[in-house]
Amino acid sequence: MTYRHIKLPQDGKKISLVDGTLRVPDNPIVGFVEGDGIGPDITKASLRVWNAAVEKAYAGKRKIHWCELYMGEKAAGLYDGDYFPQETLDAITELTIAIKGPLTTPIGGGFRSLNVSLRQALDLYACVRPVRYYQGVPSPLRRPEEVDVVIFRENTEDVYAGIEYQTGTPENEKLARFLREQMGAKFFDDAGLAIKPISPFGTKRLIRKAIQYAIDHGRESVTLVHKGNIMKYTEGAFRNWGYELAKEEFGEQTITEEELYSQYSGKQPAGKIVIKDRIADIIFQLLQLRPSEFDVIATMNLNGDYLSDAVAAEVGGIGIAPGANIGDVVAVFEATHGTAPKYANQNKVNPSSLLLSGAMMLEYMGWKEAADLINAAYPQVVGDKFVTYDFARLMPGAHTVSTSAFADALIARITGDADDLARFEQERREALERERKEREAQRVANPLEAMKESGRQPTTAGGIMSPIKSIAASATVDEAMHQMRENNISSILVEPDGSNTWGIMTQRDIVMKIVGANKSAANVKVSEIASQPLVTVPSDLSLRRVSQTMIDNRVRRVVVESNEQPVGIVSETDLFRIVEEFGWEPEE
Ligand code: NAP
Repeated sequence: MTYRHIKLPQDGKKISLVDGTLRVPDNPIVGFVEGDGIGPDITKASLRVWNAAVEKAYAGKRKIHWCELYMGEKAAGLYDGDYFPQETLDAITELTIAIKGPLTTPIGGGFRSLNVSLRQALDLYACVRPVRYYQGVPSPLRRPEEVDVVIFRENTEDVYAGIEYQTGTPENEKLARFLREQMGAKFFDDAGLAIKPISPFGTKRLIRKAIQYAIDHGRESVTLVHKGNIMKYTEGAFRNWGYELAKEEFGEQTITEEELYSQYSGKQPAGKIVIKDRIADIIFQLLQLRPSEFDVIATMNLNGDYLSDAVAAEVGGIGIAPGANIGDVVAVFEATHGTAPKYANQNKVNPSSLLLSGAMMLEYMGWKEAADLINAAYPQVVGDKFVTYDFARLMPGAHTVSTSAFADALIARITGDADDLARFEQERREALERERKEREAQRVANPLEAMKESGRQPTTAGGIMSPIKSIAASATVDEAMHQMRENNISSILVEPDGSNTWGIMTQRDIVMKIVGANKSAANVKVSEIASQPLVTVPSDLSLRRVSQTMIDNRVRRVVVESNEQPVGIVSETDLFRIVEEFGWEPEE
């Protein structure tokens, strides 16, 4: 493709996407948009650091060929007042990956935010924000090192879709009339109205990306954040479609949190990612009190907007938070703060947000070694209290340095002892792994306490069931009793014999049908005293209905079924413990 102002570097090769896999040559062309205001300062500094990291990591075998692209004020100067030139969009599409500084949204004249326009024009539907703590960065948390989450925020739907009608306009009146007269809706006069579309398509492509990311990066869990208890058909549907997608497309690589407790007794099977969900309001508290419980988060536009800034604030604020907007093909990495025009061209501000977005980009390209060098050098420089003014004012005794001097200090670290840096990053990963293991040990030792602390409130039969233990119908009662005692269980399922029907044998059966009937446990087969047929419930049945089933059938335990196979048992004792532990909110 030929361009008016954009010059593709001759020596570089384009990155491509083949069958969903990124193909990155050793000399890729990557687009960059300098940005407005402080953009040029932070871009210049960051480019030097990225280049140094790539050079050091690959000893000159790999090199990025940068291609300048234009948006914002620089574009307006070149393209006759056009802030958002089509050829920049074409070039980003052709190059697949780009990184950009902040852009001014011109005030007045009906301009839309350039960032929003970019996301829409290229259908960059996933806003990805990794938030992790770097040693030395000022933080209000007691244990900020536990924060290491990646937020996937849906970019195209929700109340952000712009389907909004101002009070007093004919459109607003028309919609209000329709809602009241045709749909029976009730709301105050003159209300502004907006529509909140959440579709299975939009939801699933976002969650698919989040789960794939978790798989590719060996993450522990994906949490779906929603307010589905109130907005059932939008946010609740998001959660349901998320679980559906995980089961349909990632059935081999994922388990639900419910299964983690009920089928795996809290021990996460190797290679499986746990899919869980949390209500949007409680997640804000949990991410402050127990951030280590969360890993990858997938949520809708509005929740994600609040959440990404709130979590970033825990570990240094949006001034250092990296981010990217990613679609099916194209990915644009960006500084998450604005243009801070009062600091433009003063070589003063903190380049971290753009710089770390670049590290994220390198990782996305599969150039992890280069990303690791930046991620490891960064806390060392900040730890030396060698920081820009914004951090310096929060760190007693800090040396305030310029944007370029901060970059110089990073480069000195990166080009210094790289092995040392790699070890540092490795140690951090190992510390995170140790924390995971500690949480797992707690889940196994005390599942109820672990559930409670992690913000999980079980609400269905599957959520509280114990995994089944079974025995052949032809075994003796003696053998069954031995197995029950070994596993510390009060009932055991009896496998189908010729009749193809499962049965259950309980401690009570032994008291009544063996001891009470004066028989020998060694001479009676379990099939002779087992109860059939089983009283079963589906795993998604609410706890109230589980209780009702026990009352109706005069039994003390029910068997939980999934795909017509028994998968667990819920007893009166289990219900009692859950209510005692978590309280009981009557269902609506
Ligand atoms: P802003 O540019 O983010 O600046 C607000 C304040 O944040 C600054 O005054 C400064 O605080 C601090 N800050 C931001 N970046 C910093 C950095 N790199 N290093 C140190 N401190 C930094 O927000 P704004 O003033 O609301 O917006 C200005 C323009 O940016 C607007 O045109 C807006 O539309 C645009 N904007 C663009 C993006 C984007 O392109 N992604 C995002 C947001 C806003 P102190 O004054 O306390 O030092």
